[in-house]
Amino acid sequence: MTQRFAGKVALVTGGSRGIGRACVAELAKGGAEVWFIYQSNQLAAAGLAGELADQGATVHPEQADVRDFERIQQLAERIVNQCGKIDILVNSAGIVRDGLLGTMTAEQWNEVLAVNLTGTFNCCRAVAQFMLSQRSGSIVNLSSTAAEFSSRGQVNYAASKGGINGFTRALAKELAPRNVRVNAVAPGMIDTDMSEAVRGLAGNKIKEIIPMRRIGTPEEVAKLVAFLASDDASYITGQVIRVDGGLSLGGY
Ligand code: NAD
Repeated sequence: MTQRFAGKVALVTGGSRGIGRACVAELAKGGAEVWFIYQSNQLAAAGLAGELADQGATVHPEQADVRDFERIQQLAERIVNQCGKIDILVNSAGIVRDGLLGTMTAEQWNEVLAVNLTGTFNCCRAVAQFMLSQRSGSIVNLSSTAAEFSSRGQVNYAASKGGINGFTRALAKELAPRNVRVNAVAPGMIDTDMSEAVRGLAGNKIKEIIPMRRIGTPEEVAKLVAFLASDDASYITGQVIRVDGGLSLGGY
């Protein structure tokens, strides 16, 4: 049986841990050649690449900051020079810098917008030009249910994810005529380093709020990302799809 990503080339940001890491593994195990960006944890990045290489995958870790457009553009050019194309882009790099508005610093605001929203713009801007000339490609952006169902202390994060939803829809319209699809995945509460503090604070209450009575795994998010990235989703574009165990359903 042929693997569903055989012959595909993918770039994943935030790839050394959490949801990005699970996306790298899911795409690589499906046969894609995966380039992934990590910010600082060289050991974790090399560990993931080695683990997947042992399973027969081709994976390239690259240190980069998604805020640095020139660096991202250089990397996209190098991937295309080496592989001839980029089929899939997953924007998973993201941060939180929570605080109430009254005490939120300009730095907390700017940093979250710069990584989550401008970082996503930078990667799309660098990669989309190649997808347009190939007349094929799929971009998946990591949003959050926080874009619509926001919590206190997260105006910066909610704004960045709301921005990603609008960006995704607008870009999807722009790229659709050339067969390039753009979608977003909006996770609820997922078991990663990012959500550790919130999970710690809320304790078991979180499970009472989530209809499925449990926190999601990075792998469950990666399955949806991989579906949207794959040709199985060939007529889906401009969508924001939640993966949250029913968290956003409301009611009782
Ligand atoms: P995480 O903190 O485990 O991983 C985020 C990754 O992004 C890290 O590897 C980090 O190094 C990288 N990163 C941060 N700033 C960067 C920069 N400037 N340049 C390059 N890389 C950078 O978080 P996660 O839970 O895996 O989150 C992945 C995505 O999913 C994020 O966009 C996040 O907002 C979103 N999300 C997560 C949850 C959750 O509950 N964990 C819920 C909704 C949405």
